[in-house]
Amino acid sequence: MTSTAGLDRLLDAINFAVCKHQNQVRKDQRGSPYITHPISVAQAIYAIGSVEETHILIAAVLHDTIEDTDTSEAEIQEQFGENILAIILEVSDDKSLEKMERKRRQVVHAGELSYAAKLIKLADKLVNCRDILLSPPKDWPLARRQAYIQWAADVVYEIRGTNPSLENAFDKMLLEAQKKLKFDIMPYKTVNERPWAPYEITHQPGENDE
Ligand code: ZN
Repeated sequence: MTSTAGLDRLLDAINFAVCKHQNQVRKDQRGSPYITHPISVAQAIYAIGSVEETHILIAAVLHDTIEDTDTSEAEIQEQFGENILAIILEVSDDKSLEKMERKRRQVVHAGELSYAAKLIKLADKLVNCRDILLSPPKDWPLARRQAYIQWAADVVYEIRGTNPSLENAFDKMLLEAQKKLKFDIMPYKTVNERPWAPYEITHQPGENDE
């Protein structure tokens, strides 16, 4: 069970994330407050994954602060320490990169992540996919929803063996998604046929050349 000091730090992290994400909303139809997302990710890790390590739950609560808010690395380091900062950086995309390249990198690097970062990545994909099934963004046509779930399946493929309960929950979601969105998840071995093909150079000469 989480110690009192650990619980204290976890509540601090929730408070910090609430402030940082305060003006952001999710892309779902209700425009839910963004903070519901990182809290759901931490909750999935704890409740489904049975993971009680406070530093992992704290990193889960804070996982989108650097990528999506004005939070600096120094701020996280000062308030939550180097260990938490390192986990958050592992799961943060480089926003200066083009979207498909970021997707490609997530597939390529998922297998190299630390245990804590893998748990967050796994729960993040589970929560996002469930949200897409329950309340998809208004402007996302069926093909885009299918593509997101296929991509999440490809990222999670690289993480398997981390937490069986979270992986089972993800697989259940995949079954439901295929029924609901009427498509078949393609096996990982065909991953290079997708727009985020990880094992080829996707950059086209002349595209972003300086
Ligand atoms: Zn996230």
